[in-house]
Amino acid sequence: MHKDNKDDLRKLFVGLDKKVNVEGKGRIIPINFDNAATTPPFKRVMKKILETSEYYGSIERGDGQKSLYCSDLYEESRNYLLKYFNAPEDIYTAIFVANTTDGLNMVSNILINSKDDIVITTRMEHHSNDLPWRGKCNLKYVEVREDGRININDIEELVDKYRERIKYITITGASNVTGYINDIKRIAKLIHKYGGKIIVDGAQLVPHKRVSMCQEDSSENIDFLVFSGHKIYAPFGSGAIIGLKESFNMNPPDSKGGGTVDLVLDDREIWLNTPEKNEAGTPNLFGAVAIMEAMKEVERIGFDTIEKNEKELLKYIIDGLKDLSRVRLYADNENINDRLGILVFTIDGMSYEEVGEKLSEVRGIGVRQGGFCSHPYTRRVLGIADNELQNYISKNGVPGLVRVSLGIYNTKKEANIFLETIEYLCRRYAK
Ligand code: PLP
Repeated sequence: MHKDNKDDLRKLFVGLDKKVNVEGKGRIIPINFDNAATTPPFKRVMKKILETSEYYGSIERGDGQKSLYCSDLYEESRNYLLKYFNAPEDIYTAIFVANTTDGLNMVSNILINSKDDIVITTRMEHHSNDLPWRGKCNLKYVEVREDGRININDIEELVDKYRERIKYITITGASNVTGYINDIKRIAKLIHKYGGKIIVDGAQLVPHKRVSMCQEDSSENIDFLVFSGHKIYAPFGSGAIIGLKESFNMNPPDSKGGGTVDLVLDDREIWLNTPEKNEAGTPNLFGAVAIMEAMKEVERIGFDTIEKNEKELLKYIIDGLKDLSRVRLYADNENINDRLGILVFTIDGMSYEEVGEKLSEVRGIGVRQGGFCSHPYTRRVLGIADNELQNYISKNGVPGLVRVSLGIYNTKKEANIFLETIEYLCRRYAK
């Protein structure tokens, strides 16, 4: 494929040119700048789902030919994931879950043994990597700096203070609000110093960057990674945990039932090994296959192309917004090397809700507005201090911003339409 040909890339997706109704404009092709929330499916994914459905049968539970075919395909998807993430199967397992939230809940339920276990997390997290840990362990939060980046020195201080008492650090690979990419290798090395382990929320990172569980220097390895299929062009209700086999084998499963046991006696049960033990109930074959096919497509396109396109477009939109005097950009928009294609802004004289609604109403542009399921981080990005928060909320409601998040297929033409529309909103609606 020609590296910069966006038309070729767009052809790989279902529905990008499907028109929607925009009042006063009729039916137009919408613009999706909300890829951090959910992405459109690859054609390749849909084709494979349709093919597979002709052979659909019970997974891991039958001797019929269709059942065997589906069970093999399910295991093929699992093995593909292990290879893709450079996770040797004698050390790591791949467990299919519903999404990142489900996976992080499962990991926290299984790994935490005592309320005294110290777990480090950060103020950059999505609620899905914050709330599952609250109340279960001794949670220590690492602050973010004024520019919204994590303060790695704080992690180092905590590690040196609590040493072996720290069991885990659970941290996002990249922020869903600012797109900052965390230095996972460096953080892994810090946490491994006294035997702690690292859990990475890969919901935003995995779709945009190659992630490897193992590094040349093994102290930089990732121990657990969780991500969602629907954010990587595979919308069939699936996600996965790639994690240390031993940890799952050592602990009882979180969700129990059919498929998790070798033998059930009247008064006790013998668990299977992971991953079966951790996948209660009939597996989601289409979800697993969708992720495998999506990753094959992403590999084929290549992360060089993906990262280059998304970064160029990010810069283009940031530069365009900087020219509009009513627009306020947040986070570090000068050095964007460590950012995914995500940017947040507000318009003076308009609420964030209004901006999101008007972009859709006026030109069929889909963005996300609000606190992005990351309330503690969003208010920090906005610069609202602890002692101002209550007052701010009673006057303005939940602190929020407007977010643009890019995908593989977004184009400069779309960016221009977006910038023109923002300029129009500033003129027409800002008070
Ligand atoms: N973590 C991050 C960083 C996210 O951006 C999201 C979703 O936006 C999640 C976790 C939760 O993902 P899901 O809704 O697929 O469970």
